[in-house]
Amino acid sequence: MAKIIDGKAIAAEIRQELKERVPAFEELFGFKPGLAVVLVGQDPASRVYVNNKRKACEEIGYNSFVYELSADTTEEDLLNLIQQLNTRDDIHGILVQLPLPRHINEEKIIHAIIPTKDVDAFHPQNVGQIMLGNPTFMPCTPAGVIELLKRYDIDVAGKECVVVGRSNIVGKPLALLLLQANGTVTICHSKTRDLKEVCKRADILAVAIGKPKFITADMVKEGAVIIDIGINRDENGKLCGDIDFENVKEVASYITPVPGGCGPMTIAMLMKNTYEAAMITASKASNGEFTYNKI
Ligand code: NDP
Repeated sequence: MAKIIDGKAIAAEIRQELKERVPAFEELFGFKPGLAVVLVGQDPASRVYVNNKRKACEEIGYNSFVYELSADTTEEDLLNLIQQLNTRDDIHGILVQLPLPRHINEEKIIHAIIPTKDVDAFHPQNVGQIMLGNPTFMPCTPAGVIELLKRYDIDVAGKECVVVGRSNIVGKPLALLLLQANGTVTICHSKTRDLKEVCKRADILAVAIGKPKFITADMVKEGAVIIDIGINRDENGKLCGDIDFENVKEVASYITPVPGGCGPMTIAMLMKNTYEAAMITASKASNGEFTYNKI
C-alpha cells in the first residue's frame, strides 16, 4: 500500500519557513513582502481561492492587498489598475485570479503584469525563462509538485515520467520541470493513443486533466509514484482528483491525496514566489549592494 504524500503538512512547513524569514527581511530592507490579488466578478470558487491567498499572506506576515472588482469592470479599468500595481513600491507580486469574465482578454491582462511581479509565472517572458531552464519564478502548481518530490526524497533523475494533461499552467510547465530534473518525460493529452499503456510505463505519473477518478489501478505500474493534480467533485459532490485514489493506492508506492496533496502546495509556492519578488525589489533598491539569491 502506498505512502500518502502529505501536501498539507509540507505546505505548512514551507509557510512556516517563510514566516521565520520575514522579520529579518523587514529589518534588513525596511519593508515586508506584499502581494496584490485581483478578483473580477463573483465566482464562488475564485472567491475561496482569493481568500485562502489573503489568509496565507497574513499568516506569514506579508502585506496583502485584495482588489475585488465587479463583474462589469472594463478591460481598460483592469489594465489601469495593473499599471498602478506595477509601479507601487509596496507591492512585489501581482496575481489576477483566473478565469476572468468573457469580455476581458486574459492574455492582454497577463501580458500587462510586469514580469518581475508576475508571481504566477504566466507572462511570456517568464514562460520563456522556464523553457530555458533559468526561471525568475517557478509556476506555482508544477513547482509544488517538484517540491513534494524533493521533500519525500523521490529522485526524478533517469525515471520514466508521464504527465497527463498539457495545459499552459500545469501539464506543459510540469513536464519541463521534470525534464530539468533529468526525468525521461512523456506528455499525454486527449489525442494520445493507448493512454493506458503509456501511463503503465511511468515510474512517476502526474495527472492534471480535470476528470474525476479517470486514472484507474490497471493503468498504473506497481510501485509508481502518483501525483494527482486534478480537483473535481465526484458523483456525491465530494472533492476528488483525477486518480481513482482508493484502488490506485494499493498499487502505487507514493500517492498524493485530493484534497491535501498538490492543492495546498500551490499557495505555498505562490508565497515563496512573493518572497522572491520582494527580494528582487530589495536587490534593485540596494544598487548592487545586495545580490538576490533564490531561496
Ligand atoms: P485544462 O482543461 O486546461 O487541461 C486539461 C488537459 O487534460 C488538456 O491538455 C487535455 O487534453 C487533457 N485531457 C482531457 N481529457 C483527457 C483524456 N481523456 N485523456 C488524456 N488527456 C485528457 O485543465 P488544467 O490543466 O487547468 O487543470 C487540470 C486539473 O487540475 C483540473 O482539475 C484543475 O482543477 C486542476 N488544477 C489544480 C490546481 C492545484 O492547485 N492543485 C491548479 C490548477 C489546476 P487536450 O489538450 O488534448 O485537450
